[in-house]
Amino acid sequence: MTPAYALYRRSRAYQDLSIEEQRQAVRAWAAENGYRIVREFADDASGLDTERRHEFLTLLKICAQPPLRAADVVLCYDISRFSRLDPEEAGFHEYSLRRAGVRVVYTHEPGANDAGLTGHLVKSLKRVLAHEYSQKLSQVVSRGLRAHAERGDWTGGPPPYGYRRAARQAAGTVCILEPGRWKAKGERVTLVVEPVEAAVVREIFAANVHQGWGLAAIAHRLNDRGVAPPASARRRGTPAWTKNTIWAILRNPIYRGRLVYAKTGYAEIGKRSGKVQRPVADRIVVDQAFPQIIPPELWETAQAKHEPRRFGVGRPWHRSYLLSTLITCGHCGKKFQAHRPVGRPENPYYVCGGYVASGLSVCDGLRVPMTYLDEAVLDGIQKRLESVLDRDVLRQRLQALLAADRPQEGNIEALQTRIAEIRRRIDRLIELSAAGQEEIPSVRAALVRLEREREGLEAELTETTARADSVGNIDAMAATLIEALGTSREVLAAGAPEERKRLVRAFLHRVEIRKTTRQAVLSWYRLPAPENLSVKLVAPRGNARGTVHRLLIHFEAFALAA
Ligand SMILES: [Zn+2]
Repeated sequence: MTPAYALYRRSRAYQDLSIEEQRQAVRAWAAENGYRIVREFADDASGLDTERRHEFLTLLKICAQPPLRAADVVLCYDISRFSRLDPEEAGFHEYSLRRAGVRVVYTHEPGANDAGLTGHLVKSLKRVLAHEYSQKLSQVVSRGLRAHAERGDWTGGPPPYGYRRAARQAAGTVCILEPGRWKAKGERVTLVVEPVEAAVVREIFAANVHQGWGLAAIAHRLNDRGVAPPASARRRGTPAWTKNTIWAILRNPIYRGRLVYAKTGYAEIGKRSGKVQRPVADRIVVDQAFPQIIPPELWETAQAKHEPRRFGVGRPWHRSYLLSTLITCGHCGKKFQAHRPVGRPENPYYVCGGYVASGLSVCDGLRVPMTYLDEAVLDGIQKRLESVLDRDVLRQRLQALLAADRPQEGNIEALQTRIAEIRRRIDRLIELSAAGQEEIPSVRAALVRLEREREGLEAELTETTARADSVGNIDAMAATLIEALGTSREVLAAGAPEERKRLVRAFLHRVEIRKTTRQAVLSWYRLPAPENLSVKLVAPRGNARGTVHRLLIHFEAFALAA
């Protein structure tokens, strides 16, 4: 039996042969024809981009190294499974394989395995066809979308603010579709202008462009008048216009009658996959797809007003506050936000997000001083930590952890020996190159590599020495750490912001601010939430010599509480 690799591939097209079907067919063929499959490579939904074909690339890498290779044959269902790439690129990959001594055998492609001109012609032709098919498919899809838009069909979900969905019947009559109602057979869904909402859209554009109003001012004015906001603004708490809602309306090209399809696409980047912005050139844009509410000139003026902001200007884009996302407003139901006045002497505070985004008609701007609330929460956590932790159990576990963390006897000596050895090799190389016996570039490369290795080992030596000193006395060290728990405030302060927040979430369910009684109500978990309870503590200072070395200790308080 000849050993062979098998390659399976499925494109994104639904009608394509599944990996499993290919596997069965290729395995059966291999058994009949005297091949033994030693490893299988399968790429699913890979599309046109070679970079996304991880398994294919792995196969190419393995085949390029004859000593590592377990087979000299690659079995593949047919030519389009080998590749739907650009025909020349596909040919190139097959040629590289052949030069490395690997043969591609197509199990279900008559004629392709023939030697000589016939085989060559079959393969060339099939490759062109496979690539053509792949490109055609994406063209057909985008042509379909464009045709829908040009007929004025709405294929999306809920209509944009200012429009209603309507069914256009075969007889030419149009009737409004209530939310949630589906079109009947033979009807087509289109958009019609909703006069009341359209007037609001016109008002928003006019206020922004002609009167120079900002997003917040426009949102506040609409809320003050009690204008019902779009459905998108009704997700949490009191429905209200927000800066974001206004911004989205000012940016939406639908109001000038333009439909933009395929703004986002699906992509895989590394291990993650999801929605990504498509480049502008790939989008499908249809003008006058739907009745316009804003004249194109006015719409364009509004776009020019909000040029993209320079990154990093304005408020810091992410700052970790102890209680952010944990405070809810009892009045309007929105989350509180942290504010830190820049360049003013005021203290940082938490304030209702409903007020910030939508104005006084939704909620008042009561400010809760950050230090006041944070202190109250930290006090509560201190008290709960005391009752949750069993100090004797903790001491035992800490001692075990510290002992495990201590460098082994002889570690330092071993490191020193290795460093001395590398130094000797470096000296020898320098002598060699001085004598001119060796080719210069290779000596230089070797020197760089050795220097790097030496630097790494020296850093390790410094670190290990510091650690050996700092845990000279494990019992004393454990006692220091346990004592540090008595002042968990300082221990928390030394940890990273994310660690601190996790600890808070382990104990605190939420904070509700009640404006009428001016109370902050803290709800605590009766038992700490286990998923947040693996806490990293940092000992305030770890060693007698006063170096910066700090010792990190993980422990699970939940396990101790049980
Ligand atoms: Zn509120």
